[in-house]
Amino acid sequence: MAAEGSDWLRGRFVIFNVCRGRFHLQAAGQGALIGIPSQSQLHLHALHRRPIMRSNSQALKHRSSHDTEREFGGTLGALCIPVFLPLTVLFLVGVSRSPDASVLQWPPPLPSTEQLWDPLALVLLLGWVALHALLYVMPLGKVSEGLVLRDGARLKYPINGFYGLCVSSVLLMLLLGLGAPLGYLFELLLPLAVCAIAVSFLFSVYLYIRSFWVPSHALALGGNTGNPVYDFFIGRELNPRIGDFDLKYFCELRPGLIGWVVINLGMLMKEVELRGSPSLAMILVNSFQLLYVADALWNEEAVLTTMDIVHDGFGFMLVFGDLAWVPFTYGLQASFLVVHPQSLSSLGAATIIALNGIGYYVFRKSNSQKNQFRRDPTHPSVAGLETIATATGKRLLVSGWWGLVRHPNYLGDLLMALAWSLPCGFSHLLPYFYVVYFAVLLIHREARDERLCRAKYGLAWDTYCRRVPYRIFPYIY
Ligand code: NDP
Repeated sequence: MAAEGSDWLRGRFVIFNVCRGRFHLQAAGQGALIGIPSQSQLHLHALHRRPIMRSNSQALKHRSSHDTEREFGGTLGALCIPVFLPLTVLFLVGVSRSPDASVLQWPPPLPSTEQLWDPLALVLLLGWVALHALLYVMPLGKVSEGLVLRDGARLKYPINGFYGLCVSSVLLMLLLGLGAPLGYLFELLLPLAVCAIAVSFLFSVYLYIRSFWVPSHALALGGNTGNPVYDFFIGRELNPRIGDFDLKYFCELRPGLIGWVVINLGMLMKEVELRGSPSLAMILVNSFQLLYVADALWNEEAVLTTMDIVHDGFGFMLVFGDLAWVPFTYGLQASFLVVHPQSLSSLGAATIIALNGIGYYVFRKSNSQKNQFRRDPTHPSVAGLETIATATGKRLLVSGWWGLVRHPNYLGDLLMALAWSLPCGFSHLLPYFYVVYFAVLLIHREARDERLCRAKYGLAWDTYCRRVPYRIFPYIY
């Protein structure tokens, strides 16, 4: 039985410890399987491990290509998304800097080659990634362990992203003090986006090729269907590393996320160049998004338990998302404001600040509550919360933030997303791109997570859904 590859198995069991030739499986449903009582545990001995010890390309021959459920529209999605999304980035960046800033103008004005390519952009991009790679390997901050992998190992991760943000901020302040024209990032936006897209493609090809040399237990369960287009897109290897340097974890929160706030700062400096001082709207957008990025890096350890790290392979989807999509589309409001200044009343600004504050509060409190509960359910801040048991031994919160809706953290995130767009007024759709896209992303992500949780927790998950019927928006969805 090729235990690792079987979706049948995954749907019904939780493989929660695999070590020294022994699988430790637990029934995921509650007595749903004939002959396997709830809480039953199977021990499959070394004999059953043999199939996954073959080279992973060999192992693939023994799998049917359809035994892994495909996401994002399967092969068609995997073919179209890598074409469509990079073009979307270039389109949005181009439109945000144009006088009309109309996303409905068709056909969109095509940029010239000079507008798309500047060798300086490539130098800056590679230099930026190298700087963060250097900061990553610096012995700063603590080292944490990730979740237990299928081979029983736990990888170590440096928790020093916040230092990366601080060091980059100091360097930027120094550069500004020396008179560096940071506002030039406005002119460089399109070439930078082109380079980030090109780097994402090349890097994904590298990741795809190298994944054939790793043992099969190092592959993501959903990422080795045998269909090259889909596997390239979704990512074959779960935790690609060069030595101790974890490529996925590095890309997840550092060059792209910190790059996003640097681009924002560049837009603010461009405004200063053009108008003498930054507008209130620009300051709000910069501050809100800096808070979001700083929070993510401050709580970097939490990323170790996210779907991206635990479940998804590292392929084009995550590479492009981390390196191109996030830095160039999440901050469109700032580039929009350079060309379309907005005046904001004090009342308007106060309302927007309050909305961002509420969103941040819901987002942070709910994420912290779940993280605390998962780390130490006996901690006084979570010990009094009502929970339900699951067959895996883990419990699910049904009161507190997680009793309000099934994804209170997404609710808070969406409130913040709206607050980032509102400073741009109501004259254009473009600044609202992020909130609309993000709502679609989180609704889709929520559905993926529900599927995974139902597979993990079986009937206990259904009980949770009955107790907490709304997914993201109370009484609405
Ligand atoms: P979540 O933090 O929402 O985690 C989902 C997991 O939490 C489930 O798989 C389950 O895992 C656990 N869980 C679910 N319900 C309960 C419950 N009732 N009690 C206890 N545990 C529960 O996952 P995400 O990674 O999607 O989101 C993390 C944050 O990142 C969110 O705030 C989100 O908004 C944000 N985000 C931001 C993005 C951006 O681009 N800006 C993109 C994606 C996410 P288990 O039981 O195994 O612990």
